Amino acid sequence: MRELGIVTDGAVLCREGRVAWVGKTGEFTGPLPDDMTVLDGTGMVVLPGFVDSHTHAMFAGSREREFALRSEGATYQDIAGQGGGILSTVSQVRKASKRELKHSTSRYLTEMLRHGTTTAEIKSGYGLAMETEVTMLEALRELRDEELSGVVPTFLGAHALPPEFAGNLPGYVALLVERLLPYIARKNLAVFCDVFCEQGYFGLEEAETILSAAKVLGLKLKVHADELTSMGGAELAARLGAVSADHLEKISGRGVEALAEAGVVAGLLPGVSFSLNHGYAPARRLIDAGVPVAIASDFNPGSCMSFSMPLMMTIACTQMRMTPEEALTAATINGAAALGLSATHGSIEPGKQADMILASVPDYRFLAYHFGVNHVRSVIKNGTLLEL
Ligand SMILES: [Zn+2]
Repeated sequence: MRELGIVTDGAVLCREGRVAWVGKTGEFTGPLPDDMTVLDGTGMVVLPGFVDSHTHAMFAGSREREFALRSEGATYQDIAGQGGGILSTVSQVRKASKRELKHSTSRYLTEMLRHGTTTAEIKSGYGLAMETEVTMLEALRELRDEELSGVVPTFLGAHALPPEFAGNLPGYVALLVERLLPYIARKNLAVFCDVFCEQGYFGLEEAETILSAAKVLGLKLKVHADELTSMGGAELAARLGAVSADHLEKISGRGVEALAEAGVVAGLLPGVSFSLNHGYAPARRLIDAGVPVAIASDFNPGSCMSFSMPLMMTIACTQMRMTPEEALTAATINGAAALGLSATHGSIEPGKQADMILASVPDYRFLAYHFGVNHVRSVIKNGTLLEL
């Protein structure tokens, strides 16, 4: 994760949306087309576009009241107990139209591009009912086709227990497994299935039931694991062959070993620990054990209202003891790996999709070091220079 493959005085040639050549400017010898657009990156750094592999960027309403309550000492669980939390966003999303959901997410995607994120995973999970979950996923599919940004849709029907099923967890799991998942798979509405595996949400047994059903239907797997309690979510992700296990603030030693052995990407979310002021995931232990670590924003209205990947890198370096090189790898190629896209995204290599940013910094380390500032000057997606 510390090897960045830096090219000084470099040049990149893009053709038909892909990287065609990378190397030192003086070493390029091939012919160039006359109608080529040339971007001068003198004094700047060219980087792969960020891949934000874990977001909840489709929601309605906002929760600044909870932010204020937390500033006075309320915990995430206190707030959920007072009718706040995930379910308050669920009631807002259920009232919103597909058009409204698309409109707000589209604005976030544009703003994310301006901050250098060229691919974002987005989860459903604020509908928690057949109709609204499907509306969210249809809206995400339309955005994937219409937006400049890359969008990877994830089904997170198992985000929380909806009020209609209070006291009836088995009933809701049955709805997910028997009705929602088969419909989503048949309509090809999601690439991944994710489960919020946590005490008071979905236990290990329920998570396994839902994820196994999704796997049989051809969906790839992600798990919200070991965030608030060390309950074996990481081990479950490893056992089921999940692509990533995310959060991991409370992962056990056995969980670290299981991820390393199974080659599961650890999706760490520095912005959540920062926003909620709770412990950070043991990034150092995971990296030293050979687990591929990705960092993502977890952009959502409750526990991290930021989608700035450079800010996530800063927090990773200052609070989780990751090096700037590791943070950059985690925000690009390992983010792509967390989405099963590392063969095509996340680095500037011939044959890969030409998703790049030009940052007005003298050195790549400035991205994390000089924080709270947007250094991105140009964004190239699929080989096209975007007007943002
Ligand atoms: Zn999340």
